[in-house]
Amino acid sequence: MPKVDTHIREEIDQYQLDRQQKGNLVVLLRLCHEHLDSVNEDLVTRAFKLCCKSHENITRASGEPYYLHPVEVAKIMAEEFNIDDVSVVAALLHDTVEDTSVTLKTIEVLFGSTVMHIIDGLTKIMGVFENRDTKQAETFMKLLLSMADDIRVVLIKFADRLHNMRTISHLPKQKQLNKATETMELYAPLAHRFGLFKIKNELEDLSFKVIDPNSYKFLVRKLREKKEAREIFIDEFMQPITSELGEQKFNFEIKGRPKHIYSIYRKMQMQQKPFEEIYDLFAIRIILEEPHTKEDCWRVYSVITDWYTPIPKRFRDFISVPKANGYQSLHTTVITKQGRKVEVQIRTRKMDYIAEQGLAAHWKYKEGNNSGSNELDKFVHWVRDVLDAPRPDAATEFVKDFQLNLYHDEIYIFTPNGELKTLPNGASCIDFAFEIHSEIGERALAAKVNGKMMPLRQKLKSGDQVEIITGNKINLNPDWMEDVVTHKAKARIRQFIKQKERKIANQGRELWEKRAAKGKIEISDQELTKVAKRFKFNDAQEMFYEIGSGAFGVNELFKRVKQLKSKGRLDDESEDHKKQISEQAPEEYFTTARSVGDGKALLVEGELTNVKYSYANCCNPIPGDNVIGFISRNGDVKIHRSNCKNAHHLIRTDSERIIDVSWARNIDTQFLGGIKVIGEDRVGLVNDLTEVLSKSLQTNMKSINVNSEGGMFEGVITAYVNDLKHLEKIIQKLERVDGIKTVIRYE
Ligand code: MN
Repeated sequence: MPKVDTHIREEIDQYQLDRQQKGNLVVLLRLCHEHLDSVNEDLVTRAFKLCCKSHENITRASGEPYYLHPVEVAKIMAEEFNIDDVSVVAALLHDTVEDTSVTLKTIEVLFGSTVMHIIDGLTKIMGVFENRDTKQAETFMKLLLSMADDIRVVLIKFADRLHNMRTISHLPKQKQLNKATETMELYAPLAHRFGLFKIKNELEDLSFKVIDPNSYKFLVRKLREKKEAREIFIDEFMQPITSELGEQKFNFEIKGRPKHIYSIYRKMQMQQKPFEEIYDLFAIRIILEEPHTKEDCWRVYSVITDWYTPIPKRFRDFISVPKANGYQSLHTTVITKQGRKVEVQIRTRKMDYIAEQGLAAHWKYKEGNNSGSNELDKFVHWVRDVLDAPRPDAATEFVKDFQLNLYHDEIYIFTPNGELKTLPNGASCIDFAFEIHSEIGERALAAKVNGKMMPLRQKLKSGDQVEIITGNKINLNPDWMEDVVTHKAKARIRQFIKQKERKIANQGRELWEKRAAKGKIEISDQELTKVAKRFKFNDAQEMFYEIGSGAFGVNELFKRVKQLKSKGRLDDESEDHKKQISEQAPEEYFTTARSVGDGKALLVEGELTNVKYSYANCCNPIPGDNVIGFISRNGDVKIHRSNCKNAHHLIRTDSERIIDVSWARNIDTQFLGGIKVIGEDRVGLVNDLTEVLSKSLQTNMKSINVNSEGGMFEGVITAYVNDLKHLEKIIQKLERVDGIKTVIRYE
């Protein structure tokens, strides 16, 4: 390796520059010395030579040698951004890895890892930038920041575009329009967000010239015509101020000419005003040179207002209270003796630098952004510190201190039509699919990442373009849970798993109900919960899921239930009451009516709520009954008939747990009602009873248990009833059945 390194270095160092190249190198080095704190001439020279060598014999659209483009970009880096020699070196090499045979390894060997990283970052964002039809400049900026961890990568990208726009006239018309539109829609807003106002203005003017050449020419001509009159006015306006400030030994510069053509055009469009009205709104900027301080700005303000009358409500103090992006300046509007309004901005050179060139981007103005505000606050704080620092080398410090890690917890992914989606770091194709639409997520089969087929669990990185391939059916897989990080995807997958479990549990319940019917066992939900807990399940649902999935045998459950029932182990708080009844009635007559109400039949304290409630087994209330609620220990509400013995007991002993309940007006579910029938036994009696119920009353029966002894018949019927009226009707009808002596409601 070292041998190869030496070889490359020698080859570059011995590369002979031609006369034109030598001249350009001298100019570049001079600019570097002029604008940068320190310059490693050897490094810049070597980069210059590699640039010339690698782009040898290649020309630009203008016919010029290609190397002139990176050299111009390097000049912009030195002159406009004046950061450091490393960014100049990287600018010289910015097209080498992408366009020539030079490798990143070579760059690292010859220029070190920092330059290599910058070039690597530039190459990475290249594909992302080109031919994107996106207007999401905000997200785009975040995308850039998440991909490029060095601010110089982004700045070189701007310098590159700026030079390409300056030389755009050599391209075919259609290409010019493409580039100009892209610059207007993407680069200019980005430059604005970064606080690079000067670059932004030039990019806009260059694009405007291509997109609307007639308006551009019109405005250039108008500006030229007005130039003299305007300069005379500014001179006259400033004359007394200038002499006073001179007497007070102020060192300052006056800026009064609007150079930004596109902004005039936009104002004309927005305010629907002619050129003159926009242009004649004068704004003059007074910039105090080093080492003037913010206190001096106030002294200048006082000089101006001594001479001209200020309009109080137009005064703005952005020095004491800087804008969120760090912008500092004093703004005041004064009136001349001729009645003309002039806006005056007063600021120090440092403040002006940050306002025009600095990276004090409009972080805070990001519409709808609420992430990373702490990072942003820190950044803004830091910008202010730079402003207040005694030395003016703000740009150098920007590079050192401003690590571009603001958006590293987010990634930015392109949809097939160029839209950007924001996802958390670590997101997979599945997350992306759900982000687009839950239906896309559910039906996802595979993904294309940057045109290549990838498994769905593939993790994504900023700048990826992802297309999800979907099928007709739901393809959601519970295993995906391990491959997703977004809430959206997780929630949907969890929901899917729950649905699936519920289906299996329902199958399990059906299996159980068939088995229970076959074995003639009646069991309430509460009792089932008790059984489930004895088997160490969390609840009956979990037990039924295990039955449905085949992990738990329905016969085992049946055996256990029968066992427990015979020992009375499943009885609940109405235990005593039931025992009394069961003593009175033969065991087989004892059925526990299970309410089938769906939980929407009751108003708790006068309203329909999500309070969980169930109906007491002891009295089986049905709509129409007077009822009370009893708050049980787990917070559920148990509904009793108000004439229930247990309820009376509860009212006496635990009255504070009684809650007011009433029936809803419309109840569309049915309840189980018990009826006890006593009469003379005869052949066909059971048949007559069931016929009355099913045929004449269209009532479904759940069960009928009969016992006949010594010519007497006693039966307990449980039937699905709508309400108390319905039950009373049944009782009336059954009383008329031949041989029946007594029909009573049975609890
Ligand atoms: Mn380039």
